[in-house]
Amino acid sequence: MSMFYACDQDGMLVYIDDAKRGLACLCQCFICGARVVAKKGPHKTHHFSHHAGKIACDIAPESILHKLAKQVILQAEGLQLPPMPGVYPSPNDPEADKTSWWDFAEIHAEQTQQLFRPDLVAKLKDGTQLLIEIAVTSFVDEYKQEKIDRLQDKTVELNLRYLLDQMHKPYLEIRQHILHDTQHKTWLYPHDPEMPQDDPATAHSESKCLPFEDKGMIHPDAFVQHRFTVLGMWLGAMRLPSGDLVVRSYAYNPQIVQLLKAWAGELGGRYSRRYKNWSYPAKYAGQVLERLGQLHDETA
Ligand SMILES: [Zn+2]
Repeated sequence: MSMFYACDQDGMLVYIDDAKRGLACLCQCFICGARVVAKKGPHKTHHFSHHAGKIACDIAPESILHKLAKQVILQAEGLQLPPMPGVYPSPNDPEADKTSWWDFAEIHAEQTQQLFRPDLVAKLKDGTQLLIEIAVTSFVDEYKQEKIDRLQDKTVELNLRYLLDQMHKPYLEIRQHILHDTQHKTWLYPHDPEMPQDDPATAHSESKCLPFEDKGMIHPDAFVQHRFTVLGMWLGAMRLPSGDLVVRSYAYNPQIVQLLKAWAGELGGRYSRRYKNWSYPAKYAGQVLERLGQLHDETA
């Protein structure tokens, strides 16, 4: 792909339209650090090019987009977000914009937390923090989700894959998408209180008010994590205290969706749109685990 971005002397990404022409751009290649020239002639699409005839670097657009998104959010010190689970803005007005702009008191990149290192950590004015994960090609998987659930900090994931083929567009347009689009932002924590909790930490505390505990019938295998690789995809399965089984697939694969859907139809399971997982009634949980075990590919 053409180089639409290069790094300035402070290491910040600069869009070709915003750079001075020629060597005066004072920019470097994002990958190799060599001087680049801003080619802004009358004929070809404007782009950066290595100075002194060096062979072009292989620049992955996802790396540029990932860095650019961090830069944009660090500079803006805020982000437009969909309503946090459990918060219901303007409940009586279905037409109202339910999203809101979150102002950060501080924001830092790559600040290691107890269990993992999110892309960005924002300090909020109420003293709590918001963890921000920027996903372009790799998304939060079940292992990371478990850590996020244990950490219990507010966490959002930005899925920016849809911008990958738009990197030639003006910087301000890309910036607008990153900051203000909300349909590509998902809350990873907290979870929606209306949905069944399938996380050990919160499910334990929540379980006090659930009826099955009154009967003293917490399933002995509750919260035991089962992992399978089916058609090259990771699937996680776990019994809830009721004995019901929840099955998660983090990466989207239409064949796996078809399979889990067919089992739900056959055994009476259901799909949670928010968690993108399927739950199956306790009496068929063993059967579903057995089927997953049969499909499990050790070699994948
Ligand atoms: Zn280079």
